[in-house]
Amino acid sequence: MVVGEIPEGIDLLVVGAGPGGYTAALRGAQLGREVTLVDHGGLSGVGGVCLQTGCIPSKALIEIAETAHRARSWSSAGLHTEGLTIDLGAFQRFKDEIVRRLGDTVRRQLDAAGVHVLPGRVCFTRPGQAAIEQDGGGPSRFVEFRDVILATGSRSIELQELPHDGQRVLDSSDALALHTLPTRLAVIGAGCIGVELGTAFAKLGAHVTIIEALDRLLPTMDAAVAPPVQQRLTTLGVDVLVGARARDYDDRRLKVDTARGMRIVDADVVVVAVGRRPNSDDLGLGRLGVRPRPDGVLEVGPDRLVRPHIAAIGDLTRGPALAHKATAEAEVAAAALCGRPAAFDPVALPAVVFSDPEVAVAGLSAAQARAAGITARVATVPLAASGRVATLNPDDLEVFGACSDRRGWGRNEGFARLVIDADADAVVGAQLVGPHASELIAEAVLAIEMAASPADLAGAIHPHPTLSELLAQAARRVS
Ligand code: NAD
Repeated sequence: MVVGEIPEGIDLLVVGAGPGGYTAALRGAQLGREVTLVDHGGLSGVGGVCLQTGCIPSKALIEIAETAHRARSWSSAGLHTEGLTIDLGAFQRFKDEIVRRLGDTVRRQLDAAGVHVLPGRVCFTRPGQAAIEQDGGGPSRFVEFRDVILATGSRSIELQELPHDGQRVLDSSDALALHTLPTRLAVIGAGCIGVELGTAFAKLGAHVTIIEALDRLLPTMDAAVAPPVQQRLTTLGVDVLVGARARDYDDRRLKVDTARGMRIVDADVVVVAVGRRPNSDDLGLGRLGVRPRPDGVLEVGPDRLVRPHIAAIGDLTRGPALAHKATAEAEVAAAALCGRPAAFDPVALPAVVFSDPEVAVAGLSAAQARAAGITARVATVPLAASGRVATLNPDDLEVFGACSDRRGWGRNEGFARLVIDADADAVVGAQLVGPHASELIAEAVLAIEMAASPADLAGAIHPHPTLSELLAQAARRVS
């Protein structure tokens, strides 16, 4: 800042216009604050990674892949779709249109709420002050703010041995922007992103190999959820190499260390999906007296304040990088900075993987409940208990038939499971693996948050024939 220059005054500065940032801006404005929202993309950056290159594009890709796959699956039930082709270029135009429309909705909300949206990169210069720098070297603005909410999100972690080039070595955003289908695709990491992308590209017709360092896919989730997902990947022809690490990629050959020695995976492109890192390093946070942890995470209190007048939300803070966590934290941070009592303390933070079958969990697994000293009862019903499931996908019939045990339940089959605190007679957790689990989990979240008893769930009449009956059936087993 030039000596003598007077900075512009900002009441509440929000940095980053993703789901966390724009929600914080809207809530701040609703609570009577003058809000300025800064994002390097300006108005076109509204929605952040989630809308522009993450959650929404990936769900669109998963949907077209699933539709194609289901169309093919139904041939055994009499639906013939010979000649089905997929044009990823046309898909990209469709996806861009969805992103534009959803972005417009948020831009209109921000406009109506009187939020000022500025383009630029915020760099803090001293406590209470920042420069807003323009890409391409345009003149910076200097601002003085009363409060700030940091919502700059996260970025894909790169592997040193496979540096990102956007051509052959991609991150998940690049993969979602492909205009042509690679013939052979390797995905490194079998977490949410790796499994979702691997499944979608296999259904689109690519030969997919997933390489995971740990001993199973989705290693951060309850072990019971993995077999049905693994089974479907196998059916789709996906090779899943566990206990494996990629070492080097050259001339479309990926060298992978496995327990059985070096293996070569032929791959036209490699997608690296080994986690995300908070964007906390380029902000000049040290000049606010704020020091991120070595992994980039900012430590916050229950009110999401790092210190008075400075809040951080979303992927910048501890916990999974989930948009719905960020939006919930945004409400808390905005309220706290407006002097209202607020705390982020969810009993059940749902997590969803849009795999096949879908996986959705909330609250405690049985192991977590027991580790917390809870007398846990577990009620599980297999997908086969639902008449609706059988009508959804002919693929599922094969799974039911091939692997069922005495109870008519196969290890590789999806299920709905409730974890009950027997002493309190309350639902404390749910794990769902099956079609539309991503939608069904909301009922379990509500049950956990309200400490509903299994009898509450079982007694509420669920419509037939729907997947929602699975949760009621599980509840009936322990009520
Ligand atoms: P992740 O942490 O879920 O999974 C990364 C996987 O990569 C892990 O299984 C890890 O063991 C493996 N790995 C790490 N280094 C490796 C190496 N060198 N070789 C092989 N495997 C390696 O991360 P992600 O899948 O990148 O997702 C990032 C974040 O985004 C997560 O917090 C996730 O919750 C979120 N996300 C959510 C959704 C959703 O809600 N549906 C979808 C995608 C991502």
